Amino acid sequence: MSVQETFVSLLHQNNTRLTQHAQDIFDTLKSQKRPLSAVEIYEMLSDNGSKIDLSTVHRTMERFCGIQVVQPVYRDKATLYELSHHFVPHHHHFTCTQCETIYEIDTCVMDVLESSVGDLGEVTHHSVELFGVCNRCV
Ligand SMILES: [Zn+2]
Ligand SMILES: [Zn+2]
Ligand SMILES: [Zn+2]
Repeated sequence: MSVQETFVSLLHQNNTRLTQHAQDIFDTLKSQKRPLSAVEIYEMLSDNGSKIDLSTVHRTMERFCGIQVVQPVYRDKATLYELSHHFVPHHHHFTCTQCETIYEIDTCVMDVLESSVGDLGEVTHHSVELFGVCNRCV
């Protein structure tokens, strides 16, 4: 399935209508390849002439999170959003605390930790965020 077909089928499975605004927000996230805040998405769409308002972006992001079109990346100032595992491979982030750049990390070595859960239950997912100072800032 193409990215667009996956997107449409996630909406259909959850009885959600595909609006132009929803499509525009999805396309913005797809083109940026980094987590974006609702305000950033709103500003990018407005710059491109969209008549969308900020509350619509917020509402759409909540809905997208609920049906796993996007996943949240929690930050102090604002929650960021990126396309979910339905669209991008599993990865982690290294965030520079100086310039706030978010770098994508493809390696995942969580198996040991996950297996240490052992008899306590079954791990369904994990979220690990790395912070530090990037080479451009040291
Ligand atoms: Zn930096
Ligand atoms: Zn990411
Ligand atoms: Zn991982």
